[in-house]
Amino acid sequence: MGSRYFDHAATTAMDPRVTQAMMPYFTEQFGNPNSLYTLGRDAARALEDARTRVAAGIGAAQPAEVVFTSGGSESDNEAFFSILRKVAPEGGHIITSAYEHDAVLNTAKWLAKHGYDLDLVRPRKDGHVYADDVGALICKDTKLVSIMHSNNEIGAINDIRSIAARAHEAGALMHTDAVQSLGKVPFSVVDLDVDLASFTAHKLHGPKGVGALYLKRGVRFDALIKGGGQETRRRSGTQNVAGAVGFATAIELALADRDSEATRLSALRDRVIDGLTSRLENVQATVTQGDRLPNLASLLVKGVEGESMLLQLDNLGFSVSTGSACSSGSLEPSHVLLAIGVPQVIAHGSLRVSLGRDNTEQDVDDFIEALVPIIEKLRAMSPVYTKMFCGPDAITF
Ligand SMILES: *Cc1c(COP(=O)(O)O)cnc(C)c1O
Repeated sequence: MGSRYFDHAATTAMDPRVTQAMMPYFTEQFGNPNSLYTLGRDAARALEDARTRVAAGIGAAQPAEVVFTSGGSESDNEAFFSILRKVAPEGGHIITSAYEHDAVLNTAKWLAKHGYDLDLVRPRKDGHVYADDVGALICKDTKLVSIMHSNNEIGAINDIRSIAARAHEAGALMHTDAVQSLGKVPFSVVDLDVDLASFTAHKLHGPKGVGALYLKRGVRFDALIKGGGQETRRRSGTQNVAGAVGFATAIELALADRDSEATRLSALRDRVIDGLTSRLENVQATVTQGDRLPNLASLLVKGVEGESMLLQLDNLGFSVSTGSACSSGSLEPSHVLLAIGVPQVIAHGSLRVSLGRDNTEQDVDDFIEALVPIIEKLRAMSPVYTKMFCGPDAITF
């Protein structure tokens, strides 16, 4: 095989086995799972079977704790709105981190404008959010703490179990965005003792537009999407049966070789980092300590713009991501890198290489061969590279 696609943290190709498992539910088995006749009941059975498999995959105690949603963003929104409207309709204190995915961050910021008190805990320079730092912000009015299990841009994995313990001591609920972790590293909602967790299928070779919210039994909620009361009144709308089946299949496939893939991918990740840092000055891995995603290398390449590298790599057929441009196309540096204290001028030169099932050692070597001369040329053209990043006054992180 082999592939020049190095952006698996953005999305992944559907596994053909996932596509195959979904097909019947687009065609002969098209029934509405809420209908009472045979065709509907068959669809309902497929949906409940998928729920059981997803529950097992995320380590939930009961299938009923899994609510199917349209993906990670919806699950994140649900987690905040459905909980807070129930447990704190008049407002209250919420905590999240400064480097969350926008689906969490912008939801929390909206709430802050509408009567809730928001504290953003800063991750430390090593890329991790610490339970002590969260604990320092918790107060008796804290209702919800939401910290991501792993960061989608720099790959740091957080000790959610310890953070959840702090939240629970204060009587607050704990949510974690686990989108990037599922299928990559050991993960269990029961082991972490979280009340809510978000997942999406398309980051693990499943379909786009389907995900899940783990809602622990007994947690009170007020559904964000109201209507016919599907998903036991937690999320209305006719369920995406094919999507749920695809999601369940994708999780099982990812878990089947999770550990061997983690070993293989972390070697490839380190090959990317070592390959670039050994051949170039002023290139460093963003996160070097603590738990990290096996498939993600985040690099700071001083003195070049992330976009320039991205576009030149694209010309050669390589797909990578940079933290310095957001989806709106603005050139603001990444809020994630700024949150961990990367100086603005360095944050502009970030590169995210996220590996997957289809990548080989040869692909990584080809990538390094391609990128080294691109960086050398861009730096040679830069009027400020030497001045800013070499010598005694060099800007560092
Ligand atoms: C991709 C991603 C999301 C959003 O998931 P969608 O299914 O694309 O809405 C949320 N959180 C994290 C950490 C992600 O990486």
